[in-house]
Amino acid sequence: MYDHEKEIQEIIKRLEKESIKFNEKIILVTGGAGFLGSWICDVLIEQGAYCICLDNLSSGSFDNISHLMDKKNFRFLNHDISKPIYFGLTNHPMGICVGDIEKIDIVMHMASRASPFEFTKFPISILKSNTLGTMNALGIAKAHNALFFYTSTSEIYGNPPDSAVPTPETYFGHVNPVGPRSCYDESKRAGEAFIKAYELQHKIKAKIIRIFNTYGPRIRYGALFGRVIPNFIHQALNDKDITVFGDGSQTRSFTYVVDEVEGLLKAVHFNAANGEVINLGNDNELTILELAELIIELTNSNSKITHNPLPIDDPVRRCPVLEKAKRLIKWKPTTPLKEGLRVTIEWFKSIENED
Ligand code: UDP
Repeated sequence: MYDHEKEIQEIIKRLEKESIKFNEKIILVTGGAGFLGSWICDVLIEQGAYCICLDNLSSGSFDNISHLMDKKNFRFLNHDISKPIYFGLTNHPMGICVGDIEKIDIVMHMASRASPFEFTKFPISILKSNTLGTMNALGIAKAHNALFFYTSTSEIYGNPPDSAVPTPETYFGHVNPVGPRSCYDESKRAGEAFIKAYELQHKIKAKIIRIFNTYGPRIRYGALFGRVIPNFIHQALNDKDITVFGDGSQTRSFTYVVDEVEGLLKAVHFNAANGEVINLGNDNELTILELAELIIELTNSNSKITHNPLPIDDPVRRCPVLEKAKRLIKWKPTTPLKEGLRVTIEWFKSIENED
């Protein structure tokens, strides 16, 4: 069993350097059993917050949170946030009620499937999590006068031209509203619009973070929903062909999970992020072909690279401008790609041995 204690302590060390502590806060994390959500729960529990993890386990996994189930300050609710849920009430005609939690301080809405493989299989549930789900999560924040935090995405930008890469938050996007990725891109955009409407009309205090590609231990893997890094690592460790889509000249910039979770929690903490939209990613842009070669090297693999067709609307380049993150939440990514990949490969080896 892989132990994440070292990584969790590293995140806490970085937060405490800025005197960031969530103890005594009551925090709702939707998508709390997912890749990023479960890391957030781990850090919050370790810091002594009361953490309510809400997840319907559609893409999240109970394995990510099972070690937290016996903690006094952890609560798991198996629920789909696209359906209403009320805290502090025992009877509401419109949805499920959780009577004994009377006050929530922070709502972190992180629930959504995020893998391109799922965009064609589960488009309706993706649309619902980011539209109805965001509305329901905002409703909870409004009822409890809680701070609202939303994990949006670089997909907001769609397929930007070279002149808009690296991409600042002010870029409006170049998105196909009826393409195979539109369930995700457009629902995340609608989610942001919901937040702006609640800020305006209900004076909700909210922050929007646009997450760029993130990797690390606990990332989902498997042929049906793998993102590029887990796919390539799995293929490399098993000497299978590395499936580069297209000619591999498309770029991404990858953030290690320890950096990303540090940034997310800094964004929750700093008041300077209130009402703001902030990119959170890595500005080390590389091609998918370079990534494939690096993973072959780090795994000492005999795999060969093969080329499969490029999916429709696959963004050509993706890389953030990080000036706002540096200025407003004192954050920049610090883990070199090689180092993060080494840890991720070790984690993969440990879980593939268990299977
Ligand atoms: N990709 C690839 N081979 C794979 C999986 C993905 O070449 O087995 C490419 C994909 O076409 C995209 C990039 O890797 O250009 C990143 O894909 P991912 O699924 O991680 O997410 P995206 O960044 O497209 O949302």
